[in-house]
Amino acid sequence: QTVILLDQIRKSYFIGKNELPVLKGVSLNINRNEYVALMGPSGSGKSTLMNILGCLDTPTSGKYVLSGHDVSSMEDNELARIRNQEIGFVFQQFNLMPRLSALENVAVPLIYGGVGKKEREDKARAMLEKVGLGDRYKHKPNELSGGQCQRVAIARALVNDPSIILADEPTGNLDTKTSIEIMDIFSKIHASGNTVILVTHEEDIAAHARRIIRLRDGVIESDKMNAVKEVLA
Ligand code: ADP
Ligand code: ADP
Repeated sequence: QTVILLDQIRKSYFIGKNELPVLKGVSLNINRNEYVALMGPSGSGKSTLMNILGCLDTPTSGKYVLSGHDVSSMEDNELARIRNQEIGFVFQQFNLMPRLSALENVAVPLIYGGVGKKEREDKARAMLEKVGLGDRYKHKPNELSGGQCQRVAIARALVNDPSIILADEPTGNLDTKTSIEIMDIFSKIHASGNTVILVTHEEDIAAHARRIIRLRDGVIESDKMNAVKEVLA
């Protein structure tokens, strides 16, 4: 079952009247419950593609069908609704709100969903348990390690029960040991039925995915299935 269908996606940035073409015709089909690593040199267009996949930006031309919705022709408010429903984001810099506790950070997406306070707290608590941070729910980001902050961010990405998790360099700020712990969580998310797409520069991180897509100069250079690596605990 196709969740993401890209057909000849092009994206240019315009700086004054100069056009900078960044994506130059990307076509791609991703099925439900795939686990994809997106790789490629700096400047090859990975973040631009992730922003389009996550409905944070729209292509200059081409068609994008997300879970059966043609999002390439959508207005901003409609796009935002689909985004909240379908997508969970995880970033390299965690992007947590510094004044809010772990629990409150995880609950933020539920506020926009109109969920009541008690239910928000229960759901956020359950998500924090799921990522192994059940006992740290009162802590603020500056009282947590990088790995713990990323767990909070992952719990936040999952709290609306999205079908797709998009992660842009989720281990880029973490040491090797912590990176492996975070990748174990992504493997569990994948095993529980989500579609996972992550950007990474590191082959060791990409090795966790089942499919590796490499971008170069705004086009797909290669798209290969990956032999599953048994991760030793
Ligand atoms: P983004 O567009 O998402 O910011 P970048 O490609 O700029 O992603 O890189 C994200 C991070 O990875 C940056 O901190 C950058 O310094 C680092 N980085 C970029 N290229 C490489 C590379 N080839 N190998 C390792 N790290 C890189
Ligand atoms: P990657 O994530 O692979 O490093 P990006 O998608 O971040 O690549 O960037 C691809 C190219 O687009 C780079 O040359 C970058 O400078 C340019 N770019 C990215 N975002 C913008 C923007 N908002 N405005 C202008 N140029 C941009």
